[in-house]
Amino acid sequence: RRTEALARAGEPCRMADGTRIEAFANLGTLGDAHLAVENGAEGSGLLRTEFLFLERDAAPTVAEQTADYQAIADALDGRPLIVRLLDIGGDKPAPYLPMAPEENPALGLRGIRVGLAHPQILEDQVRAILSVKPAGQCRIMVPMIASLDELRAVRAVVDRVAADIGIGDRVPVGVMIETPAAAVTADLIAAEADFLSVGTNDLTQYTLAMDRGNAAVASGIDGLHPAVLRLIAQTCNGGAVHGRWTGVCGGLASDPLAVPILIGLGVSELSSAPALVPEIKALVATLTMEACRAHATAALRCGSAADVRSLAREFTA
Ligand code: PEP
Ligand code: MG
Repeated sequence: RRTEALARAGEPCRMADGTRIEAFANLGTLGDAHLAVENGAEGSGLLRTEFLFLERDAAPTVAEQTADYQAIADALDGRPLIVRLLDIGGDKPAPYLPMAPEENPALGLRGIRVGLAHPQILEDQVRAILSVKPAGQCRIMVPMIASLDELRAVRAVVDRVAADIGIGDRVPVGVMIETPAAAVTADLIAAEADFLSVGTNDLTQYTLAMDRGNAAVASGIDGLHPAVLRLIAQTCNGGAVHGRWTGVCGGLASDPLAVPILIGLGVSELSSAPALVPEIKALVATLTMEACRAHATAALRCGSAADVRSLAREFTA
């Protein structure tokens, strides 16, 4: 099955009825970018830029960041690259960023809150991303948005830096939907965001109030919980109101039992672990939108993640 999937890795990802789904990959390093292309990824739906910022004594310069993003963009050979703005916080401290210890790091200064609290870090990163050539290959994605104000603040920085560099076209800025607040206001956010991408790891943690790193609740933390699925549905519907696409870049996009449900809810881009892209594409090729929609509707009515999983197993059997 894997050999067959790999042989078809170069073909565009389509459902059995011809519907296009984008099969993207999550990246954390340059090596991941090469692996993604070898596995037939059509782009990257999430570049985690934290690798550039952690374990150093000073923030990376604009030139250092540009070089790293450029190398990854080059490895993707023209494919779209969605670069996520720095997503560090109390649990992932950087020595040069003075941050007070927090009792609840998951609810503290993290994601875009850090960038807004340290405007130079945000501006330098935006400048580095916008300096990558060719202009337009990179899109910017904002992590941990909880309200529209934060997106507006980032948009202002992006517009200012773009004007400064001499970029005339509007730079696409998308939002990660990782908080229940963002999911339930997706229609408001999508009025000003260019795309939405659900971070199911954090969205699950915040929806179920279960720490994603706590082994004691690990068995309960499942993104196929109907509460999370309803928030994903709300996100897709909110995006559609404004003609914006919704993707998934959290772990659920790498879960074969979840993929038909996500597509049925309206997700049109799946960004998974690079090595899994061939399997995801092969799976998508077996699905029809009609069947996925009916399946997703049934999943939304389940009482628990376990029930959704048994339904999903029946669907794929
Ligand atoms: C997520 O939260 O689902 C996500 C993709 O971001 P990260 O796992 O890097 O927090
Ligand atoms: Mg996250």
